[in-house]
Amino acid sequence: MPLGDTAVIRSRRVVLPDGERPADVLVQEGRIARIAAYGSLPDDGTRLTELGSTALLPGLVDTHVHVNEPGRTAWEGFATATRAAAAGGVTTVVDMPLNSVPPTTTLAGLEAKRKAAEGRAWVDVGFWGGAVPGNLADLEPLYRAGVFGFKSFLAPSGVDEFPHLEADGLEAALAEQARLGAPAIVHAEDPAVLAAAPQQPGVHYRDFLASRPAGAETAAVARLLEAARRTGARVHVLHVSSATVLPLLRRARTEGVEVTAETCPHYLTLAAEQVPDGGTAFKCCPPIRDEANREALWTALAAGEFAAVVSDHSPSTPDLKLLPAHGGSGDFAAAWGGIASLQLGLPAVWTEARRRGHTLADVVGWMSAGPARLAGLDGRKGAIEVGRDADLVAFDPDGGFAVRAAELHHRNPVTPYAGRTLTGVVRTTWLRGRVVDVAGDPFGAQLVRPGSAASAP
Ligand code: ZN
Repeated sequence: MPLGDTAVIRSRRVVLPDGERPADVLVQEGRIARIAAYGSLPDDGTRLTELGSTALLPGLVDTHVHVNEPGRTAWEGFATATRAAAAGGVTTVVDMPLNSVPPTTTLAGLEAKRKAAEGRAWVDVGFWGGAVPGNLADLEPLYRAGVFGFKSFLAPSGVDEFPHLEADGLEAALAEQARLGAPAIVHAEDPAVLAAAPQQPGVHYRDFLASRPAGAETAAVARLLEAARRTGARVHVLHVSSATVLPLLRRARTEGVEVTAETCPHYLTLAAEQVPDGGTAFKCCPPIRDEANREALWTALAAGEFAAVVSDHSPSTPDLKLLPAHGGSGDFAAAWGGIASLQLGLPAVWTEARRRGHTLADVVGWMSAGPARLAGLDGRKGAIEVGRDADLVAFDPDGGFAVRAAELHHRNPVTPYAGRTLTGVVRTTWLRGRVVDVAGDPFGAQLVRPGSAASAP
């Protein structure tokens, strides 16, 4: 269906901002034009898609994706990442500023990203900038050019070209972001705590877990909150793995600090107890912790303490994962830290959420509305609401499938979900009213921050 066409999508389970109900959704010129009672819109030559009991969700917004192109396209790239996104019900991806070369820490870096994404995006793509030592003067031009905010690290990032901020640098970067009004999104692990932890290489996950203790997260978050309090910056804690940081966030909020947090599908659905020896597909930083911690994350999620659940899709080639199945050593200390899950986040979370009595509306709140708000895209994305982009997903909440890594659209066939059976199948994905065909031509757009100099009126 070309843009400009009119279509009706009808489902007994349309997930709207106020909950789920049968409805007809009228799509015109790529936007949601009307939401009407089920069966009420006339079939007067308008294209009708009848979904029956298959649910209609707003497309997911994944604000934490490492696309890695240009520079490390062998790890992932725009074509592969965005096809995986579309197949997984994700219609907006916001790319992280590192692992690509150059990183998105200068205008030239942003231009390189945009050039790399051109003609290779099956879903809409936006960009975070990066705050690193020495690029304070780059933040304003990047923000004006349309990045959504800035990511920084409090501990080494894993790649040399994206160094972490020390205390002075963090303070200066947060002050500048407060001045700009830009959200500061932060990888919070404390380097001193990590350095003091036992570093025992090998194939045993418990050794890796001991090398990245929960105390590294709490120490870093405490430091971040202090700096946020002093500078007035709006901060967002990325990929919270340890539930021990949640009381710190609660307390800071009651004291008026503007702080939000996210967690990820792997922290909610996997657990340290399940990681096999040499199972480096499970390695990420901060690490997947034990089952008791996972339960505490679910309690916090249910209580509304997380603003978003996003993938932190951060793949690499199988050789860098040192996977035993690919002839690698399985050494957790040396393997690349990052989990590939962009295509699987929705069914992974739904599988576990449903078991715990959560609704599709809950999942949409965590994975679509929440991240859209975080990126400031909630005027356009994140809900089935009149006026928003018709980014939609037909999702069969009762279907199931076994994960086969080689069948995913990710560039490399490595994921800790391999072999698992997940509940929930994405049947169709629409981007601005058009069905996305991952075997056809891409028509994803590049997004800029609303209100930026680069944004259209
Ligand atoms: Zn990340």
